[in-house]
Amino acid sequence: MASELEAQVWDALKSIKYPGMSRDIVSFGFVRGVEASGSTVTVELEMSTHNPEAADKVRSEAEAAVVAVPGVTAAEVRLQVQQPPRSAAQQAVSRDPRLIPDVDHVVAVASGKGGVGKSTVAANLAVRMAQLGSRVGLLDADIYGPSMPIMFGITERPRTDGQTLEPFEKYGIKVMSLGFLLEIDTPVIWRGPMVMKAIEQMLGQVDWGALDYLIVDLPPGTGDAQLTLTQKVPLSAAVIVTTPQDVALIDARKGLAMFRKVNVPVVGIIENMSGFVCPHCGEETHVFKQGGGERTAEVVGTPFLGSIPLDPAIVAGGDAGEPIVVSQQEGPHADAFRRIAEAVAAEVGRRSRPKLKIV
Ligand code: ADP
Repeated sequence: MASELEAQVWDALKSIKYPGMSRDIVSFGFVRGVEASGSTVTVELEMSTHNPEAADKVRSEAEAAVVAVPGVTAAEVRLQVQQPPRSAAQQAVSRDPRLIPDVDHVVAVASGKGGVGKSTVAANLAVRMAQLGSRVGLLDADIYGPSMPIMFGITERPRTDGQTLEPFEKYGIKVMSLGFLLEIDTPVIWRGPMVMKAIEQMLGQVDWGALDYLIVDLPPGTGDAQLTLTQKVPLSAAVIVTTPQDVALIDARKGLAMFRKVNVPVVGIIENMSGFVCPHCGEETHVFKQGGGERTAEVVGTPFLGSIPLDPAIVAGGDAGEPIVVSQQEGPHADAFRRIAEAVAAEVGRRSRPKLKIV
């Protein structure tokens, strides 16, 4: 039978929540045993997580809670962490460190739904990072609607030696898109394994060379392409693009949850098409409401990276094959993309571990 001290320790452990959750570690079943020997208490914790930082946090909080129980003079908290079982889909792909050996960091630009300006943000972010001095590649993995051929005004097919594809070089970056290979106007019906294969080839069979950052424009949502990418190469970071209205924000949260689940750090949320500044009177209209991106970022605990206004010049630039940061190298857009670029670089630097440089 549990001693009174042991019962008090169980109670104390109920005050510890699993990081990011509202439930406590006892109700999760993480506490396997509590044993008191005199005033010394041993606690056995066992949890299944991909996140070693969360496990360490639980352990140190458990230690503090146990020694705070009156009558306890010493506490030992033993922690056993197990890898959660992988889903069938995850098991279908395995990371391949040889895919892009000279790319330091892969950064995904994602959105929960289409049409929020994800590709526009990916293109401008990539070019801005190059303008700020990095070696950058841009992979258009939006297989359902590749838009980089238009955004970069590239209509030719990429050169190939039969083995590898040569990316295009424009505005200081290397660009590759499935759109360079597909016939315009021909619909492609993708099945899961084909998506995986296409993404794999876009990574491994393109001569990316040495890059500081490979920015990947993902298709919207949380499907096979996202899963393949997160499983095939170590992603250093992801940024989520949303518009300010509710439906887009709900989808953005799903995207965010997916990256967290597969342990990819989300640098933050970018709110696109935020407000429209009338070129005639200067008054700002919040076409899609106001401040949603910032509030969502706060609720889900990720940084808000800033907003990009609705601006006809962005559409014109996209359609003319010249991203806005090329035609306007100074001003609010250049500033906004500089801030996002700096946030990505800071995040990547903060979390940089030697294993991110795949050798
Ligand atoms: P997604 O990749 O999310 O589907 P796109 O980047 O293709 O979205 O953008 C969809 C359309 O919206 C394009 O015509 C693009 O030029 C336009 N667009 C994107 N961002 C802005 C903006 N801030 N202001 C005005 N138009 C924008």
